[in-house]
Amino acid sequence: MKILVLNCGSSSLKYQLFDMENESVLAKGICEKIGLDAPQMSHTPAGKDGFKDKKVVMPDHKAAVQLVIEALLDKEVGVISDMSEVDAVGHRVLHAGMHYSASVVVNDDVKRVIRECFDLGPLHNPANLIGIEACEALMPGTPNVAVFDTAFHQTMPEKAYMYAIPYEYFKKYDIRKYGFHGTSHSYVSKRAIDFGKLDPNNSKVIVCHLGNGASISAVVNGKCVDTSMGLTPLEGLIMGTRCGDIDPAVVQYIANKEGKSVDEVLNILNKKSGVAGVSGVSSDFRDLEKASNEGNERAKLAFDMFIYKVAKTVGGYIAAMNGVDCIAFTAGLGENDGKARAAVCSYLEFLGVKLDDEMNKLRGKEMVISTEDSKVKVLVIPTNEELAIARETLALI
Ligand code: ADP
Repeated sequence: MKILVLNCGSSSLKYQLFDMENESVLAKGICEKIGLDAPQMSHTPAGKDGFKDKKVVMPDHKAAVQLVIEALLDKEVGVISDMSEVDAVGHRVLHAGMHYSASVVVNDDVKRVIRECFDLGPLHNPANLIGIEACEALMPGTPNVAVFDTAFHQTMPEKAYMYAIPYEYFKKYDIRKYGFHGTSHSYVSKRAIDFGKLDPNNSKVIVCHLGNGASISAVVNGKCVDTSMGLTPLEGLIMGTRCGDIDPAVVQYIANKEGKSVDEVLNILNKKSGVAGVSGVSSDFRDLEKASNEGNERAKLAFDMFIYKVAKTVGGYIAAMNGVDCIAFTAGLGENDGKARAAVCSYLEFLGVKLDDEMNKLRGKEMVISTEDSKVKVLVIPTNEELAIARETLALI
């Protein structure tokens, strides 16, 4: 069984081809700057040389899918001889609104829902749909599966997902918290239960997905009960370039002072804020640490603000679940940065959270980083969203 996983962003397409017999990656790559100036593609086949940043003609996502197919079939850099070897395609799709709480095989109804949610995910849903339709056209007969970023969070109770705004806006426009990074939260919470040897029917897990985009979820007995991102990924934690929670009145205030439209201010809050905005240095935590070590006060402030917000959110979810058995760190920062993990956990010492300093220095693999006598297990679980999508796809076909 071979499964192709596609992750279409607004101007990019990431792909991985899996051999599901042993869950190995046969090839992976990325098409970038789709529809922009100087589009490029990188392709890495397993066990042989591929190509990097190759200049290609890629006016739209359909052309990108075509190039992916050509690369997979290519005599030199390819890994299969016919597209019929691919049993299904799993697509990461951003938003399903309230329609789906699990992955689904794509049919006309599913495509209608993805289209209906264009307003909720204006950058991603249209690209996701184009990716699906390109596969339908270029790989006729091969099933497509939609794996939604929002699906895992659909089990949240009303009290967690409702916003305290006039109820009619929920009724008329489905305005509520949805949450994102669902594939990661689902994968990591399941691995945390397995790897941490928790009782699946009696477990309270907090997943801290700390990357450039960052979110936290509270998971009781395998079901999400709360998460930090909202109607859009802007809510919640401070991120690389997103502001996270702020007083909504700030939007109007900046708009008035700077003579900007709401759209322009939201663009600033999404792309120019977060640790990048506060530090003026970078959205990358490695750059922040370097600057901070060189005495840059704003870089230190940005890091401290980020950690403080993570710790407050974790604390809030411990209250929401009335306890916690396990805290799992994942994504770029969560998997790799022991200092960040230790900084978050230092706020939780009153709960009896104790880190094993030696273990916490390690990175990038599944591990228990708390001590034997810690009241809460603390884990590192590297996320693998592509593999999770491939598994879901396989399960559905
Ligand atoms: P996304 O998928 O949201 O783009 P990632 O999960 O790839 O983000 O995380 C990227 C971030 O992880 C980088 O911006 C960087 O700050 C952080 N990161 C990655 N590796 C390290 C490391 N070794 N030490 C500290 N931070 C790291």
